Amino acid sequence: MRLKRFAALAAVSVLAFGAAACGGEDPGTTPTTSKFEAGTTMEKLSTAGKITIGTKFDQPGFGLKGLDGKPAGFDVEIGKIIAAELGISADKINWIATPSAVREEVLEKGDADVVIATYTINDKRKQRIDFAGPYYVAGQHLMVRSDDSSITGPDSFKDGAKKVCSVQGSTPATNIEKFLKDKATQLVLFDVYTKCVDALKNKQVDAVTTDNVILLGYVSQSNGAYKLTGSKFTDEPYGIGVKKGDAKFRAFINDLLEKIYADGRYAKAWTDTAGKFDANVPTGPAVNRY
Ligand code: GLU
Repeated sequence: MRLKRFAALAAVSVLAFGAAACGGEDPGTTPTTSKFEAGTTMEKLSTAGKITIGTKFDQPGFGLKGLDGKPAGFDVEIGKIIAAELGISADKINWIATPSAVREEVLEKGDADVVIATYTINDKRKQRIDFAGPYYVAGQHLMVRSDDSSITGPDSFKDGAKKVCSVQGSTPATNIEKFLKDKATQLVLFDVYTKCVDALKNKQVDAVTTDNVILLGYVSQSNGAYKLTGSKFTDEPYGIGVKKGDAKFRAFINDLLEKIYADGRYAKAWTDTAGKFDANVPTGPAVNRY
């Protein structure tokens, strides 16, 4: 009886082996499995082994594309940490440039899986996308030519004469409006900040306004040509943009932020990048699990 059962089992195993062999499965490759819940973005990305991340390519300290074609900066490091947590190595990240005005659209269309791009969390943007974070709180500031002492803060634009540059689709471009007497002549907008920096250099404008950390990057690269003036006049909590409604992916990133605040990866990401311009390692702000 026992022998019979053994023989039957053996026959079944042979059949099963044969079926697998006929099924064309390469015994050398193990099918990719994910430790993440089926159907989640985490599962999709970890199984694919690649991710597309939107960031800035022209903001020293946060996101700057180097001569080697690879972006570097604090936002870039945060992106690499997210990828690593999904089992994706840095060389499998597809970086795309996401200037301020295109960020929501890129997420809506699915052209990027996440956007980490000095991206202020606000209610207007939350109508179209969702944010994990904040992971940093910046503030709007003004950058002027070093030999200019006439601008001391946003009130200096109330004379109606001085011109300020910012970027389309950015929060600073909107925030500065209430300090201007004549928006049409005083506010100059481009798609990226480097064009504003050129306009400042060429004296087409008298100041550039955006977040302090972005401006600090330009100041530090200017060989003394530019300086910050006044003090910051807004709070800009930076979030990580994900597709609207992807609550599980957002929670995963929020959990990860809390983890890296505690284990030193957040501080290292800062000191390796933006910390070169601002040595104060920030305290990771409490994430908002709205
Ligand atoms: N943090 C601001 C924003 O999200 C300004 C920086 C930027 O344009 O990326 O609009």
